Amino acid sequence: MAENPLQALFQTFTKISNTVQTHLSNLVPQPHPTSPITKAPSISISSSSQVTPSHNDSTQHLINKGKSSAPVTKEGLGRATWTFLHTLAAQYPDNPTRQQKKDVKELMSILSRMYPCKECADHFQEILRSNPVQAGSHAEFSQWLCHVHNTVNRSLNKVIFPCERVDARWGKLECEQRACDVLGSSTSFWK
Ligand code: FAD
Repeated sequence: MAENPLQALFQTFTKISNTVQTHLSNLVPQPHPTSPITKAPSISISSSSQVTPSHNDSTQHLINKGKSSAPVTKEGLGRATWTFLHTLAAQYPDNPTRQQKKDVKELMSILSRMYPCKECADHFQEILRSNPVQAGSHAEFSQWLCHVHNTVNRSLNKVIFPCERVDARWGKLECEQRACDVLGSSTSFWK
C-alpha cells in the first residue's frame, strides 16, 4: 500500500526536530564533562508539593540545566551548529538512499528558516539559493558543507578553511560498541 506522503513528511520533520532538540540541549555546558552520568538524581516531593531534590552538589547541575545564567551567544550557537552539521556530514553515507538525500536537503532548508538568529538564517537562505545542497555522497555533502561554511566565514572576515582537510578535522561520533554508527542501526536517525 502506498504511504501517505503527508505522514512521511511529518515523520521526517519529527526526526529532524528530535535531532535538533537533542543538539540544542547540548548547548548548555555541563560542569563535569568527564564524569558520565549513569543515574538520575532522586527527587522527593514534600507535603507542601514543593520539589525537594535529595542530591548533593555534584548533581545540582542537572536540576539547574534548564536555567543557565549565561545566555547563548550568536558565536556559541554558531560553533555548536557547525559542530552538529559537520559531524552529520562526517557520518553521511557514501551511498545515501533517496530518503537520506531528501532529509539533508529538508534539514538545511528548515535550518535556513528556523535558525534562532534571524540575521544568520536570512544569510543562510541566500547562500542556499546560490549553492543548492549537494548530497549525492559523503564526499559531496561534506565538501558542499565546507564550502558554504567558508562562504559564511568570508562574509565575517574569518580564515578560510582548507576543504581538503575537512575529513581530518571532523570525524564520526565516537560511541561505545559503534552504537552511533549511521548504518546498521534500526533506531538510527537515518533509518
Ligand atoms: P566557526 O565558524 O563556528 O567554526 C567552528 C570550527 O569549525 C572552527 O574552529 C574550525 O575548526 C571549523 N571550521 C571553520 N570553517 C570550516 C569549514 N569551512 N569547514 C569545516 N570546518 C570549518 N554569524 C554571524 O555573525 N552572521 C551570520 O550571518 C552567521 N550566519 C551563520 C549561519 C549558519 C548556518 C551558522 C551555523 C552560523 C552562522 N553564524 C553567523 C555564526 C558563525 O558562522 C560562527 O559560528 C561564529 O562566528 C563563531 O565562529 P568561530 O570562529 O568560533 O568558528
